[in-house]
Amino acid sequence: LVRMTGVNKHFGDLHVLREINLEVRRGEVVVVIGPSGSGKSTLCRTINRLETIDDGTILIDGKELPAEGKALARLRADVGMVFQSFNLFAHKSVLQNVTLGPIRVRGKSSAQAKERAMELLKRVGVDNQAAKLPAQLSGGQQQRVAIARALAMDPKVMLFDEPTSALDPEMINEVLDTMVSLAKQGMTMIVVTHEMGFARRAADRVVFMADGQIVEQDTPEEFFSHPKSDRAKDFLGKIL
Ligand code: ATP
Ligand code: MG
Repeated sequence: LVRMTGVNKHFGDLHVLREINLEVRRGEVVVVIGPSGSGKSTLCRTINRLETIDDGTILIDGKELPAEGKALARLRADVGMVFQSFNLFAHKSVLQNVTLGPIRVRGKSSAQAKERAMELLKRVGVDNQAAKLPAQLSGGQQQRVAIARALAMDPKVMLFDEPTSALDPEMINEVLDTMVSLAKQGMTMIVVTHEMGFARRAADRVVFMADGQIVEQDTPEEFFSHPKSDRAKDFLGKIL
């Protein structure tokens, strides 16, 4: 469903992504881990063209993302993204946050969009907050709204970049549980996270990055118990 081949990217002199080859199959949950600055966020951002690449190709469901315009907006909608900071529209209600994209980009009627939004808000457990502004919600609730908003576009794949790292500890689990249930429902997911518990519970595969490269990838069982590279051993030694 997502295929990156020979992807390279530089920020000036910094070679931030080096020959990245990554394939994510439909329904697969891939957790990306690695030290700070290894290029995990950049990798995510290239997948929906928030960042350009220098060479290589990225295909989503067999198609390359167009460079700009309406076609880009539509294809980008196929790739839902949830960031560390919630990025909700501050002056729109929770419900409007979720209906806006489907109305503008997917051409849904306002009634259709509302019905679907309420369904999704219910699924992530915040349907009783629909009329509020984002600032009136807790961080965990806002992040679940952000997940519902991304799902409202009927994405083919969901990208999560450290979705719980800005949350208070007691709110982390409510967001992780939402993600686990999404994974169980068969959503294709790429998740950058430091939550190794989530990786063990939900990942089909762990991808370990260091210095802009994919150093190794394996099932969580194998990766956590028998990391092969020194970089991975060193990293796991520090975080586990
Ligand atoms: P973290 O775990 O801290 O989030 P990361 O693995 O997500 O790290 P990236 O954010 O992808 O790392 O950054 C990789 C490298 O690219 C870092 O050295 C960072 O300073 C650099 N970088 C990221 N964005 C830019 C930018 N827009 N311009 C220049 N350098 C950048
Ligand atoms: Mg990052």
